[in-house]
Amino acid sequence: MDEDVQRGFETLAIHAGQEPDPTTGAVVPPIYQVSTYKQDGVGGLRGGYEYSRSANPTRTALEECLAALEGGVRALAFASGLAAEDTLLRTICAPGDHIIAPNDAYGGTYRLFSKVYERWGVTCDPVPLGDLEAVRAAVREGVTKAIWVETPTNPLLGIADIAALAAIAVEAGALLVVDNTFASPYLQQPLTLGAHVVVHSTTKYLGGHSDVVGGALVTSDAELGERLAFHQNAMGAIAGPFDSWLTLRGIKTLGVRMDRHCANAAAVVKLLTEHPAVRQVLYPGLPDHPGHDIAVKQMRAFGGMVSFRMDSPEAALRVCERTKVFTLGESLGGVESLIEHPAKMTHASAAGSPLEVPADLVRLSVGIESVEDLLADLRQALG
Ligand SMILES: *Cc1c(COP(=O)(O)O)cnc(C)c1O
Repeated sequence: MDEDVQRGFETLAIHAGQEPDPTTGAVVPPIYQVSTYKQDGVGGLRGGYEYSRSANPTRTALEECLAALEGGVRALAFASGLAAEDTLLRTICAPGDHIIAPNDAYGGTYRLFSKVYERWGVTCDPVPLGDLEAVRAAVREGVTKAIWVETPTNPLLGIADIAALAAIAVEAGALLVVDNTFASPYLQQPLTLGAHVVVHSTTKYLGGHSDVVGGALVTSDAELGERLAFHQNAMGAIAGPFDSWLTLRGIKTLGVRMDRHCANAAAVVKLLTEHPAVRQVLYPGLPDHPGHDIAVKQMRAFGGMVSFRMDSPEAALRVCERTKVFTLGESLGGVESLIEHPAKMTHASAAGSPLEVPADLVRLSVGIESVEDLLADLRQALG
């Protein structure tokens, strides 16, 4: 691709980092299932590759594609979203440091902070990120190293103002980290709004087919990118060649998938808001959602995740067990629709913590099946 031309998102998703193979012309980057590379004399590397923990061509293709999609200068691909988070935290934090995190963060992220990093002397304050005064008040001068943002959040679909939080982070001398898993770069590009690092579980919308676990970090800061790359190699939690290839394959259709996820989710939201058995629908596309105006400002559309509250925990569990097209399962962002009960499933580890979620909550990952089938399934499950 001509590097000087500014390409559109879908073109980058298909071509960035993915020149046809120079030896065979293969239009898709091959799976370089290899650990080591022949050197032309001691220290004479062909194309910069010496050992696949340090770099592998299939992973490089994925990393260049992710950097382009997020508008960053450097991306790094990992074995999982949590491996990416761990590598980031060890790059930017030392014992004694402090992190501000969303008070409804992804359960696994909060577990990493509270059960792993606390033991190493890195503390975390869960704060409602929609309340900018509360965020400012939580900053500890010289000690707070990062404000960690999810928007939309999981599973309550809260919205945080990325640009406003970036300003607070800069003032505090901290990094603004945005977990962009729920929106994907197609709907929202945090680096262009002032974030310093984007985190992804590529397991979700980027991979998009529920067939691979992976993670990524993307940054707009070349020097930070170098430090992250050093830690990626030093810690070793890399994405393997086949996982990288599957993720790249998924990314090619990200734009068309997200359009359909959003359209189907909007139809599901309409059904749920009109249904008498549903007490409350949580979706940033709803005009009465407290983060709606910010979502309109920073997102292209409102995404495929929908949560709703029933009248009781029992009613919520019943819906989860009655759907037939929506599969009962954890995870999200794949082509197939999923339903789950966060309090007993994805967020069970948050029980008794400040991040505990309501037991009458149901979370949907709205897939790209025929929308009539999704609506009929929910109607029968709601009874
Ligand atoms: C799934 C998820 C993660 C963790 O990613 P893994 O690939 O499961 O390690 C982090 N953040 C969010 C928002 C997620 O949904």
